[in-house]
Amino acid sequence: MKRAVFPGSFDPITIGHESIIKRALPLFDEIIIAVGYNVNKKGYFSLENRKNWIASVFEDEPAVKVDHFEGLTIEYCKRMEAKYLLRGLRTAADFEYERAIAQVNKAMHEGIETVFLLTMPEHTPVKSTIVRDIIRNGGDASKFLPKGMNIHDQKG
Ligand code: ADP
Repeated sequence: MKRAVFPGSFDPITIGHESIIKRALPLFDEIIIAVGYNVNKKGYFSLENRKNWIASVFEDEPAVKVDHFEGLTIEYCKRMEAKYLLRGLRTAADFEYERAIAQVNKAMHEGIETVFLLTMPEHTPVKSTIVRDIIRNGGDASKFLPKGMNIHDQKG
């Protein structure tokens, strides 16, 4: 079973994340979208909301599972018996950051391969930080959020 973990904050999930996951589906048997959680850095939206939104976006996709983890991503991958880490790349800055993490992960755990997908050009500027700022200031962020996801249904 080719199982990949897509780790991230997903605070909240955006059309950028959604597109990477959909495009990665033909490559793997199962993709676990794993919300990295840090008790000292709780994030903007609650863990529960972040997971519920992801689950609702992929409710018709049995190959997508939603989970969360604390601690090292690589330890989580070992626990889940996932040999692949999925990440998206938007810019050269993303690449530099991701390169170091992927190389260190590989050094720590030989059995892992990080698979990168380049963002669709139209998603390059989409990031959770900007979406959060729009929402925080009462703006309409819906064009950056997956279809059918109603962020106003649930309190952050
Ligand atoms: P992190 O908190 O580690 O930055 P994010 O939740 O922001 O994690 O993102 C998780 C993954 O999704 C990362 O690999 C990131 O590069 C990717 N990603 C985020 N936004 C986009 C986008 N607009 N297009 C492609 N990949 C994206």
